[in-house]
Amino acid sequence: MKALFQLCCLLCAASVIAVAPIDLYIVCNTDGSNPVMTGADFESKLPTVNAYFAQVGMSFYLRSLSSISNNAWRVVEYGSDKADELRNIPATGGVKMFAVESLDRDTHAFSGENGIVFTPSCSADVIAHELGHACGLADIYTEKTFTNDANVEVTITVDGVASSNWMPLDWGRYEDGISQAALIVKLLMHGDTSGEECDLTAGDVYGVGMSTVTNPVTGEVSYPYELKMVPVGFWLHGNRSPQSQ
Ligand SMILES: [Zn+2]
Repeated sequence: MKALFQLCCLLCAASVIAVAPIDLYIVCNTDGSNPVMTGADFESKLPTVNAYFAQVGMSFYLRSLSSISNNAWRVVEYGSDKADELRNIPATGGVKMFAVESLDRDTHAFSGENGIVFTPSCSADVIAHELGHACGLADIYTEKTFTNDANVEVTITVDGVASSNWMPLDWGRYEDGISQAALIVKLLMHGDTSGEECDLTAGDVYGVGMSTVTNPVTGEVSYPYELKMVPVGFWLHGNRSPQSQ
C-alpha cells in the first residue's frame, strides 16, 4: 500500500496537478494606508504550502488581490458575527482569504464556509492547514477536553500503538511501533498546532475529532469530541476545487 501511495503521489505530482485559485482581501486603514500585509508577503508562503499539497497533486495560486479599506476590520474576534460580516462577499469560485491585523484568543487563523480569516503572523504551515479545511478536511487531535451536557469536563486521549485499523489506506507509511499520538502530530490537519511534518493522508485516521449531536428533545446542536476515524483523508474527502461560499 505504501508503494502504491507513493506511486500515485508521483503520478499526481507529475501529471495531474489540480490548481486552485485564492482570492485575497487585505485589510488596511479607512484611507487606504497601512495594509496589514502585502500580496508579496502572502505569496512568499505559497511555495511551502504547495510543497505540502504536492502530496495529493494539488497547488494553490494567488489569483486576485483586493483591499478592504476600513479601520473597523483590522481586529476581529474569532468566530464572531463581525468575522462573518467581513467574509460576506459574494462567492468568487475560489478560496476567499482575509488578512486582518489580529484575532483574539491567541488564534492566528480560522476557517468557515465563507472563507479563511488570518493574521500576517500565520506561518505557511497554518495557512496550509486552513486550506486543508477549505478542501473539506477536519481537525484531528491527540487529546481534547470539553464540557458535556452535564457540565463536567471530559478529557479524551488517544492511547496506543498505531495499527492498520487506525489508518487503513496509509498503513505502512510510518515506522513500526509508532504511537498513534506521535503519528497524529505529523499530520497537516492536527488541530492544536499545524502538523509537525504536515503530512496529508489518503484515508481517515483514528484520533480525537469533533462530532455533531442534535438533542432529540430540544433540537439544540452540540459539538462534542470523541474517539473515531476522523475525516482527514484527502482521497476520501478532499475537494480539489475548493470554493468559499
Ligand atoms: Zn483546524
